[in-house]
Amino acid sequence: MKRTAKYATLPLNRGKRNMLRSLIDAFANLKDLALRTLSRTRQWHYLDGRWQVLRDVMKPRYAKGVPVHLQDQAIKDAVLTMRRWIESVIALTHLKKRIFVRFEKQQRHYAFWLLRRYGRIGAVLRGEAPVPKFEIAARERKEVVRFLHRILRHALGRAPRMNVRRSVALDTSLYRVFEHRGRVYVAIASSVRGERLVLPLRGQGRISGDIRVVFDMGRRTGFVHMAYNVRVPVQPATGAAVGLDAGVTEVLAASSGEKYGHGYGVLLDRLSQETTETGKARNKLSQIANRAEERGRKARAAGGSPGDAKKASRIRRQNLGSRKLNVKRARGEAAVKTMVGQAVRAALKDRPSVVAVEDLSHLRGRTKSRRLSRVVSRWARSVLRERLEFRAEAGRSRLETVNAAYTSQACPNPACGFVHKDNRHGDRFHCLHCGWDGDADVVAGMNLLARVADPEIHLWTPKERVKAILEARFRRRKETGNLVRPVDQGNGTPLPAGLQSSHAGTAV
Ligand SMILES: [Zn+2]
Repeated sequence: MKRTAKYATLPLNRGKRNMLRSLIDAFANLKDLALRTLSRTRQWHYLDGRWQVLRDVMKPRYAKGVPVHLQDQAIKDAVLTMRRWIESVIALTHLKKRIFVRFEKQQRHYAFWLLRRYGRIGAVLRGEAPVPKFEIAARERKEVVRFLHRILRHALGRAPRMNVRRSVALDTSLYRVFEHRGRVYVAIASSVRGERLVLPLRGQGRISGDIRVVFDMGRRTGFVHMAYNVRVPVQPATGAAVGLDAGVTEVLAASSGEKYGHGYGVLLDRLSQETTETGKARNKLSQIANRAEERGRKARAAGGSPGDAKKASRIRRQNLGSRKLNVKRARGEAAVKTMVGQAVRAALKDRPSVVAVEDLSHLRGRTKSRRLSRVVSRWARSVLRERLEFRAEAGRSRLETVNAAYTSQACPNPACGFVHKDNRHGDRFHCLHCGWDGDADVVAGMNLLARVADPEIHLWTPKERVKAILEARFRRRKETGNLVRPVDQGNGTPLPAGLQSSHAGTAV
């Protein structure tokens, strides 16, 4: 499995920035030219062969003075981008599965035959029905093409183009790594013959293979991205299954009772404050600048002094620049990422066979996030999801996304299961029926884990339906006499082994 390591450079001086910019521009221009060529489906046969075939065709269009090999990389990058784009659309539309459901025998065979070559997919998009070597009637062919055309035309939309120009892909022949007085440098062949662009790295790094150099204009630094292989263990994961609740005070609370990433809430608060406050301050300054500009315009029209116009441009230059803000936010974001990474690593250290989590691609309905900005919460959840996916795959744990509805309001005691919003008071959970007592986030983790094997509650079961199912179970336990006795009617039934909590049995 692949992973990308990112190394920052020290801030670059003007000369280096210009050199890097001109490399990126030359790279982007040619890549865009190649992408434009490949946006015509008649050219998709170039995606089937080796990328060098397209390079030979494009060579007369190469820019003078730019290393030829660098331009080769731009062509290769364009071919890979196009292939990835088409493959991702086929995957996202579940096209192969839909073919399987829709067609049989020869037609199914023909549909898969079409998808095996990009050139044939291109023909389908033009409404053509290429003739294979095996027998199939023209009418049947057309039916398949119509089906594929309808799905692909819609899902593909516009072909990829170069919108942002901020990186250049390099293979090992285009750069060299050396060390000098303990610092690592990456030297890149530049547009000027014989001259090299030397980038000093901020930290230590072992760089090899294909890399991508990204330029961040706001921060005036470059980044060297390097893909590397992560070794995945041969043995499947055998650690105890775990449910993990994504929190805002700690990063994670596990069904086993542990919590990971203490101090997370403070980090998130700070980041969220910085994001919103700087936003407000900038809006105010921007208003002042606008008003000053307006006054300046009027004054100039009346033949007066341009003082106000100068003030406006000064505010814009000094206070509304994005650099300081970016640096501050980037630091906050890096701290959050580090903490999330450490928490996830610790939580999955024993390689659990199953890891149950809620769907982290959306913000949860209930306002668990206190006063955090929605932007920050959403971003933090996507960081967490990415780390969980990576760690689970690296340890061969099965990551299960489960329905999180009522997981913080339902009693985790299998002999109880009472659901009520008053079961939870802030960070504590206290079951109003059986007196189960514990940490609210740990309880949520336990309920998430139980959802993996739940026969009725699936990921997409609506919230109201989940509540109805949980309440029906509670009633059924009562009717069949399988329910734990309520705490206020006696001394509290002992909980099943392994489910004892800190002060189980205390009366409400
Ligand atoms: Zn209970």
